[in-house]
Amino acid sequence: MTMNKAKYSELTFQGIVEATPNAIILVNKEGRISYVNNQTEKLFGYDRAGLVGQGVEILIPDRYHKDHPQFRNMFFSSPETRAMGSGRELFAIKKDKTEFPVEIGLNPMVTIDGTMVLASIIDISARKKAEKSFRLVVESAPNAMILTNKSGVITLVNNQTEKLFGYDRKELIGNVLEIFIPKRFRKLHPQLRNDFFASPVVRAMGAGRELFAVRKDGSEFPVEIGLNPIETEEGTLVLASVIDITERKKQKQLTELEARNKELEQFNYIASHDLQEPLRTVLNYIQILEEDYFDKMDEEAMRHLDTINRAAKRMSSLVHSLLDFSRVGRNKELVFTDCNQLVNNVIADLNATIKSSKVKITLGQLPVIKVLETEMTQLFQNLINNAIKFRKENVVPEVEIRYSELPTHHEFSVSDNGIGIEQKNFEKIFYIFNRLNLNDPSSEYGIGLANCRKIVELHSGKIWVESEVGIGSAFRFTIAKL
Ligand code: ADP
Repeated sequence: MTMNKAKYSELTFQGIVEATPNAIILVNKEGRISYVNNQTEKLFGYDRAGLVGQGVEILIPDRYHKDHPQFRNMFFSSPETRAMGSGRELFAIKKDKTEFPVEIGLNPMVTIDGTMVLASIIDISARKKAEKSFRLVVESAPNAMILTNKSGVITLVNNQTEKLFGYDRKELIGNVLEIFIPKRFRKLHPQLRNDFFASPVVRAMGAGRELFAVRKDGSEFPVEIGLNPIETEEGTLVLASVIDITERKKQKQLTELEARNKELEQFNYIASHDLQEPLRTVLNYIQILEEDYFDKMDEEAMRHLDTINRAAKRMSSLVHSLLDFSRVGRNKELVFTDCNQLVNNVIADLNATIKSSKVKITLGQLPVIKVLETEMTQLFQNLINNAIKFRKENVVPEVEIRYSELPTHHEFSVSDNGIGIEQKNFEKIFYIFNRLNLNDPSSEYGIGLANCRKIVELHSGKIWVESEVGIGSAFRFTIAKL
């Protein structure tokens, strides 16, 4: 016996439907089930006979019954292949009344009995469970965790994120992650994000760069960020784990400070013992020659001796300067210091010659911060003294001391209306024994600004000058916040 064509294709269709791993249900316009496959029986716990001819609502939890006929009519009025309930969570119900989450695909089918809908149902309990445990893991993580998509839109954050950045979860979900990035880095970020998605691997962010994040209140803090790509139904997402490293950085600065102090102490020892001793001997013997051999030397010998004497004295002064320099930071105790008071003391102690001339000093509001007090005094002493020393002739020196707060540093400035500095010397002046006027052999070896640089660096800061010849100079320096 040979099967007719229609029968053959029906069997083939049935064969395919029976073989698919999804539950497949054919429903007519009136919402009656006209066919189910074997997977449907398994998934819902019914016999085929118990389903065929029934209203499809038998597989839907009671609370959705009311609205379902309307959705069904909508489908039949413009039947097209699509997913059911876009954006909504869908649930189905088994014979034993247990509910489970599902995903449903709808396909219109034209049959001899009219247009029907072929619904393919997938049980997504396992996926939902995995999602839930993922959320739980993220929630219980000790770090701030932020899940974003390719376009940088935040889809999930944990409680630590709310705490660290001072936002409410509601304000974050759906927003772009650039709100966590300080404004000056924002422009660059989308490109970096695209680079990450082009080859997504687990890695630390911003290799070698210092990273900063910004809180809702605008305050910034240093961070370390780990990036983990996650493959999901919606494409690749990235889970960023953010750690506030303020404390770690502070600790590092303190350790560095201690190491530098040790180095300086060692240098101090070498300078005082190994250099000063032989120099003293040289100076002593010069004195002996001058006093005891005065009449035995001719004029030329005396001239040479005088040259030796001057050179030795200069060397002695160099050794003293070196000692001063090495003493910077020896007293390594950081103490809370009222900078206004400190600078007022410096001004009160300005040497007599300076005080006798008229000087106008303006002092802004300075902070109370943790610093090496002796060194900080020395720093302001040097800068204020220089501001007055390098004045213009016949002009009353005006000195201004100002402060401004930066995210990670305190910034101070000492500016004057003095002779100014040529740009080519902007760097040089901060290095030890750098004579600006090389043609003038009597010009002193300056060490003041080298000391200033050392002091500022001990506080993990920077010092620089802005100046214009004939107009004045502004020395600016920063002190790391502790
Ligand atoms: P010193 O003052 O002993 O020469 P410093 O290290 O303090 O040594 O300064 C180095 C040089 O920088 C000075 O010799 C001077 O030429 C220049 N300088 C420093 N401060 C000022 C200032 N406020 N105005 C103009 N020049 C300055």
